[in-house]
Amino acid sequence: MLCPTGGAEHQDAGECLLTVDVDAAMGRALELAAAAREWGDTPIGAVVLGPDGGLLAEAANEREKRGDPTAHAEVLALRAAAAAHGDGWRLTGATLVVTLEPCTMCAGASVLARVARVVYGADDPKAGAAGSLWDVVRDRRLNHRPEVVAGVRAEESATLLRAFFRDRRPL
Ligand SMILES: [Zn+2]
Repeated sequence: MLCPTGGAEHQDAGECLLTVDVDAAMGRALELAAAAREWGDTPIGAVVLGPDGGLLAEAANEREKRGDPTAHAEVLALRAAAAAHGDGWRLTGATLVVTLEPCTMCAGASVLARVARVVYGADDPKAGAAGSLWDVVRDRRLNHRPEVVAGVRAEESATLLRAFFRDRRPL
């Protein structure tokens, strides 16, 4: 199994916690993020991969589009993934891949969904809850703590976000 973070060949897939192609999944999440700009939402995209690394669900941020404060890309993707996965609400062994560090709601949702790992792109120093402002996903008081992989294709995500906020600034 090729480890997407280190590029090392593992004899046993169990040696590596990352047996999914997070770089490709982040590429898809970035495409979804770019699409959100078209309808005026902050460009954030998310995909959920099953335990075998296959795509379970994908979503873009639709907060403005739906007029729903909870319609973050992660929540929409986790909901769709649970419906597709067929194990009730549980996403055991799944990987949430999102272009921006999750907020408290989305970090909390990933813990509740029991995903195995959260992979994100850019840090969010203003609202991030996977290590920046809080660390909801690795709080030792919780009995389920997803693994966190930060900084995957972070610059591409940050570039999308910068362009979005630059365009919105009044002249
Ligand atoms: Zn969120």
